[in-house]
Amino acid sequence: MKLARTQSAIDHSVNGGERRTADGDLAGAFDSAQFHRAVEQCAVRLRLYLDDPEIKGLDLVEPAVLMKAARELMTTETAGIAPFDGDRLGRIIDLYLSTGIQVHSPGYMGRQFSGTVPLAGLMDLVSSVANQPSSFYEAGQLPNVAERLMAEELTALIGWDTETSTMVTTSGGSMANLTALLAARNRAFPGIWTRGVAGEGGHPAVALSEDAHYSVDRAVGVLGIGAERIVRLPVDDHGRIRPELVGPALDAAERRGLNVFCLVASAGTTSMGAFDPLAELAELTRPRGIWLHVDGAHGASLLVSPAHRRRLDGIAEADSLTWDAHKMLFVPAPCTLLFYRDGTAARGAFRQRASYVFDEEPDIYSAFDSGDKNLECTKRPMIMPLWTLWSVYGPALFARKIDHLCALTAEAHRMLAAEPDFTVLHEPEANILCFRFTPESLADGDLHRLQLAIRNRIRADGRFFISKVDIAGVAALRVVLMNHRIDAGHLALLIAEIRTTGHQVLRDGAARDDKDGIQP
Ligand SMILES: *Cc1c(COP(=O)(O)O)cnc(C)c1O
Repeated sequence: MKLARTQSAIDHSVNGGERRTADGDLAGAFDSAQFHRAVEQCAVRLRLYLDDPEIKGLDLVEPAVLMKAARELMTTETAGIAPFDGDRLGRIIDLYLSTGIQVHSPGYMGRQFSGTVPLAGLMDLVSSVANQPSSFYEAGQLPNVAERLMAEELTALIGWDTETSTMVTTSGGSMANLTALLAARNRAFPGIWTRGVAGEGGHPAVALSEDAHYSVDRAVGVLGIGAERIVRLPVDDHGRIRPELVGPALDAAERRGLNVFCLVASAGTTSMGAFDPLAELAELTRPRGIWLHVDGAHGASLLVSPAHRRRLDGIAEADSLTWDAHKMLFVPAPCTLLFYRDGTAARGAFRQRASYVFDEEPDIYSAFDSGDKNLECTKRPMIMPLWTLWSVYGPALFARKIDHLCALTAEAHRMLAAEPDFTVLHEPEANILCFRFTPESLADGDLHRLQLAIRNRIRADGRFFISKVDIAGVAALRVVLMNHRIDAGHLALLIAEIRTTGHQVLRDGAARDDKDGIQP
């Protein structure tokens, strides 16, 4: 952890550290000149951070150590407002930047969020200063307009009518999945909002892929449907729902007295990045009146790429779609878009009156409100970074990066497949790839723990950050390529590091002197 970061590199002419306000008063905290200096000080630090050429993953700090370092940065002033201390601010920023996953470094290959285009952060700065929450038009006029404009742009890619469909932003894909399931449930069981699940009867149930994201199971729990009323849909070796088994599964559910009101498909599963066959699933759900929700938190962004949008063939047949812009559209988290093919269905998720926000007589302004369609009341104007990048650079910015990442993942697949001591588990459909280190000397029973030990040691070493996932009950290594700076050279370095680490783990395990070693 580098606490004392390059103070000398900070231009003192912009460093507020030497210009403490004499009287820490209330007005001082709102002073625009001081703010301007602080922004410049921060911008210099961010520039150094972005320009850092090192290959770094994550410098994992013990929580107690970080607690102590952070506590030392807190003012001890309690009697009055502490005078502004630019030095303290600088050290807070340094601590923040140095202790995170280094999302701008090619060493970061492990999670689904991205290093963002820095300009996106600038809009978050404006949002934070101007503070315009976005559930209601009067509070955030441009954010609400920007939501409509982005909805028009992206709905056209989905293939829906922009007049009759609708989009709301939610704080994360988990919240979007919950909201969509609520809308689906309330459409199928119109009395449930008033009488509750017990009062409504009819045994509501949901059909999910075996590989659905945990947030969907969680939503089922929150909605009071019950984990036992989840109909699990089997997947193939690539993690895709097997459509030929869906009809029989739904028939069996019906015979058990279950009323399946929603089927959740994934467009990009979290574990392997698998895309379910949407068109085939829609053919099964439509005649049965089952709502088709597509969890495209990870992969819906492929719609922006002409080269890759075929992965989502059939998406126009869905009833709703979760789309995390903070994943493959590379903006700061959270920024999730929830789309409904039928805009009126969106209003069915919540049924409420509240005189302090909902207008009795809708007008041209309240028509732009989203408070009746999302769970949040006060909501971050999360569309602003996305809409700004889209406005400034155009959609090709996103398409180019998506194309690069998918090509790079295919390259990683080729490279790993050529290594005799590695096993790749699937052809990548997007930018997620799962594989295992499988040297000949390895005993069968050690396979699972070897992958976990490799992952933990590589994380602790701090150069690369990769993740792990259980596939068919056995751990696998997983890379999610989110950074346009990664090239084949970095992939080769990673492969070499995994191999060296793997052999080390095996040796240490034989000597039984390491908790990460393979024990019999
Ligand atoms: C990431 C992810 C989610 C959860 O989204 P959050 O924005 O992290 O809440 C849901 N589904 C899938 C498929 C995901 O990859």
